[in-house]
Order: sequence, then structure tokens, then C-alpha cells
Amino acid sequence: AKQELGFIGVGRMGIHMAGRLLEAGYGVTVFDLNETNVARLVQRGAKRAASPAEVASTAETVLASLPTPDIVKAVAAEVATGSKVKTFIDLSTTGPVAAKEVAAVLAAKGIAAVDAPVSGGPSGAEKGTVAVMVACPKDLAETLRPVVEVIGKMFWVGAEPGQGQAMKLVNNILSATAVAMTSEALAMGAKAGLDADTMIAVINSGSGRNTATEDKFPRCVLNRRFDFGFAIGLMHKDAKLAVQFAESLGVPMIVGNAVNQLLSITESIEGFNGDLTTTARTVEKWAGV
Ligand code: NAD
Repeated sequence: AKQELGFIGVGRMGIHMAGRLLEAGYGVTVFDLNETNVARLVQRGAKRAASPAEVASTAETVLASLPTPDIVKAVAAEVATGSKVKTFIDLSTTGPVAAKEVAAVLAAKGIAAVDAPVSGGPSGAEKGTVAVMVACPKDLAETLRPVVEVIGKMFWVGAEPGQGQAMKLVNNILSATAVAMTSEALAMGAKAGLDADTMIAVINSGSGRNTATEDKFPRCVLNRRFDFGFAIGLMHKDAKLAVQFAESLGVPMIVGNAVNQLLSITESIEGFNGDLTTTARTVEKWAGV
């Protein structure tokens, strides 16, 4: 049998990543405040733990996929009290500042922290095709490779805590901008009487194509399902982390700040758990589409 792993946070992303590790033959002990997905994984062979500390007392390697920086910090502090854990792999998007704080708390207990945020959405997580942006000493990254490559494609991006998170913010401000700008551009076209399917076909054969036109709009907006599976509150968190990080580095982020505001407004309309793709609906309403 392969090694025992712990997995904390089995939501839209985590359920697929933990599920793939189970299918690959790892023993997986899971914890989540929400029982629904825990029960699904237990049916597939996972073991259930009652707390993050219990997870960290059953496995040397503990992974997490949690919503926000504050939650990750609280959970990491509990993981640090576990009796067995040696490595904590955080797949969540928390930003470089939180990743460094987590690494310091864990280092004090002799536990290695690996920030390893992912990109590719729930469908990529299910297929095992997400990009995993790993930051930790390179030799540690290589020992983790077999586990990481069950989840997705591993990219070692640096040895310092937070560098995986920096890479993820670079990616996600682009991904958020694609959704925001596609929403505005398609609303303009719709108001001018262009057909949505035609616009998408033309864009995807032309130079405007992006992840929103290739996937999110045809799959989740044009059919009015708005079910991509990424909470608008979480993407707003990512955009906010990106503009704050840019500010701290002295990098202008004029477009990024505008995108952040559009996501913020959409979150206030749709609620934290509204889908990212409802950004299109915000713009359509203002435009009178
Ligand atoms: P989610 O809200 O669906 O899942 C988070 C899970 O964490 C939930 O099941 C929740 O019950 C659980 N949780 C919350 N607080 C907890 C606690 N204190 N202890 C244990 N469990 C707790 O979110 P998600 O979409 O799966 O995203 C997870 C992370 O991955 C986020 O940081 C997000 O930004 C990032 N991410 C998401 C996507 C996506 O497309 N959904 C893509 C890439 C990265």
C-alpha cells in the first residue's frame, strides 16, 4: 500500500483531488466542517477524522484545500499540534503573505510548509490536469512529485514560501480579467445585435480568445447555467490579493483594480457563493442587454 495522506477541505476542488489520491491507492484521512463531501469520500474508501489535529496525527503528509487565508492560518495552527505530520501542502489560494505566516508557524514545530496553489477549476481537478505551482526546497518538491502528479501537472516555481502563491496571483488576475473583459465586450456586441454563439466562434478563431471565451462563456454563460464551480467571493479574494500584492511591490495595476471592483460588485449582488461567471450578468444588467 502507498503512504497515508491527510486531506483537509474537500469542497468543489478538494473532493476531486482527494478522490484521485484514493483512486491512486493512497490511504486518505479527510476532515471538513461540511459532512456531505466527507461522506462521499468515505464511501470511496477514505477515513474520517474529527479535526485537523486528528488528521495530522494519522499522516506525515497533510494536504489542504480551504477557502480563505484566515481559515488556512487557523487550520495550519491546529495541524501543527498533530503528532505525525512532517509536511503540510497547501493547495488553497491564500497569497504570499499568508503563506509565509503559515510557513513560520509550522517551521517552529519542525514541519515543512509547501505552498502549492492550483489552477484549472473543478473539471481540471476531476481530470487531474490542474497546474500545481509548488514552492519549497527543490529536493522536497521532488519527493512530493508522485503525490502532486496525481493531482495535476507539477511546476516547481521557487524555494521560498509564498512563491507558489505569487505565481497563482499572476495567473488568477489574468483569469479574472478574461472573465471581466469578456463580459463587457460581449455585452457591447449583444447591444449591437450580434449573436452570442457567433461572437464566441469568431473570437475563438481570432486574437481575442481567452479562457473565458474558450470555456467559461460557451459552457456556463451562453446557456445561462452560471455553474463553472468557482465562487465569485473566492475569485474576488484572489483579485484583491493580487492588487494588494502589486501595491506592496510598487507595480501599477490599473486594469487589475478595475477588475477587482467589478468582481466586488458582483459578489455583493450574487453573494459569496454566486458563481464567478455571473459577472457577465452584472454587466448585462447595467448595459440593458
Ligand atoms: P469550496 O468553498 O468549494 O471548498 C472549501 C471547503 O473547505 C468546503 O468544503 C468547506 O466546508 C471547507 N472548510 C471551510 N472552513 C473549514 C475549516 N475550518 N476546516 C475544515 N474545512 C473547512 O472552495 P473551492 O472552490 O474548493 O476552493 C478551495 C481553494 O482552492 C480556494 O482557496 C480557492 O481559491 C482555490 N481554487 C479554487 C478553484 C475553483 O475553480 N473552484 C480553482 C483553483 C483554486
